[in-house]
Amino acid sequence: MDSESFKECGKTVIDYIANYMDNIRDRPVLSTVEPGYLYKLTPSEAPVKGEHWKTVLADVENVIMPGITHWNSPQFHAFFPTANSYPAIVGDMLCNGIGCIGFSWITSPACTELEVQVMNWFGKILDLPKEFLNESEGPGGGVLQGSASEATLVCLLAAKDRATKRMKTFNPSMEDGEIKAKLVAYTSDQSNSSVEKAGLLGSMPMRLLETDKDGRMTGPILAKAIAEDLAKGLIPCYVVATLGTTGTCAFDCLETLGPICNENNIWLHVDAAYAGAAFILPEYRHLMAGVQYADSFDVNLHKWLLVNFDCSAMWVKNATYLVDAFNVDRVYLKHSYQSQDPQIPDYRHWQIPLGRRFRSLKMWFVLRLYGVEGLQAHIRKQMNLAELFGKLVEQDPRFEIVMPVTMGLVCFRLKGNNILTKHLYERLMNSGQIYLVTANVRSQLVIRFVVCSRLTEEADVRFAWNEIQRQADAVSGTVAV
Ligand code: PLP
Repeated sequence: MDSESFKECGKTVIDYIANYMDNIRDRPVLSTVEPGYLYKLTPSEAPVKGEHWKTVLADVENVIMPGITHWNSPQFHAFFPTANSYPAIVGDMLCNGIGCIGFSWITSPACTELEVQVMNWFGKILDLPKEFLNESEGPGGGVLQGSASEATLVCLLAAKDRATKRMKTFNPSMEDGEIKAKLVAYTSDQSNSSVEKAGLLGSMPMRLLETDKDGRMTGPILAKAIAEDLAKGLIPCYVVATLGTTGTCAFDCLETLGPICNENNIWLHVDAAYAGAAFILPEYRHLMAGVQYADSFDVNLHKWLLVNFDCSAMWVKNATYLVDAFNVDRVYLKHSYQSQDPQIPDYRHWQIPLGRRFRSLKMWFVLRLYGVEGLQAHIRKQMNLAELFGKLVEQDPRFEIVMPVTMGLVCFRLKGNNILTKHLYERLMNSGQIYLVTANVRSQLVIRFVVCSRLTEEADVRFAWNEIQRQADAVSGTVAV
């Protein structure tokens, strides 16, 4: 493809994307294809001769779109939001166009320095303690990871290295392997699956602690687990506290967890993947009280903050723990501006891969084109729509709301036996008008309604509620409990 064809094709694709977004309401949110559908529509060998881009683009509609679940449809209410905005798409296009790999400062100074800058901007927007910022006196700083999952793993590995080195200072004769085999991590049984996975990948047992009646991990719960493990000769190393759990958006109690972690030299990582976005609103910042005790903090801009996947903002109070844990030097990676100054980091030491995308470009576009007020208005609007949905549920005596409506999430169910809610959910999935997922709250099956798309309006919320009521009518008529 030469540059003239690229311009023509690129403009056509931009039109296609804009039309897709403008008309996304008309597409069924859930795909109706059967497994294996795509293998039937595509050849089993790659083309020998190059094709025209128009042929490929036509296949996007014919082959790809039938198998798409439309995550940005206003009828998508499953999981959590996945961000999508034009400014982010434009930033990502530039990232791809420039195509640099900014693993060290010298490999693209703009890539590193823009990331430092936007992470400082965003840290201030969230009102994080200044120790987390690159511009603070200390060794703190922010970095963009691809996902909250990676952030949790990266911090686990850094915590492991820190704990091992620390134990060695007290017990120089102990082998690294001997120490590492005794390290233990803790999180709640409500934390995201990625936290448990980080334990598996990082070879550290991750204890899933039972939460209190509100789905929260608290200081006393953690203290009990630590005491049990210390009695067994184990070494508590890492705690992942969640602000906004995936199931019910519960907030672990940082104010009581934090001091315990700090006193026991346990790395405290805060996973605020979804709900952290709400801290751009001053009225929600009380929910991160105790963040000053944390060693690391992560929030996904690719969930609720309009930056397309992947963009996960992670801050650490002391980046030297990352650099010490992940520093592998080769002569070809050296450059004359290498330094310990967190303001010109070599970000390859802060992450798992060597290569890295210019992710901060899309974040920069979003922060500049929306402004803080634009992002705040977006979050407020989505929360208000969830409140509206909650009020509609409350007006129907067949239903109950199981946890307080919070952060754009409503957990509701049909009153009575779980089987009713199960049947309702099955009917909703079969009808495919809206997409929701379920969760378990204190052995009750609930359906989660989340306002996900930036395109969702009041009419879409009412549409979803009408569909739920319609299917509930059918459930009441057919299910005997
Ligand atoms: N943590 C929480 C609380 C989440 O809700 C999720 C995803 O929904 C994750 C982590 C995983 O995020 P990612 O896909 O960025 O790894």
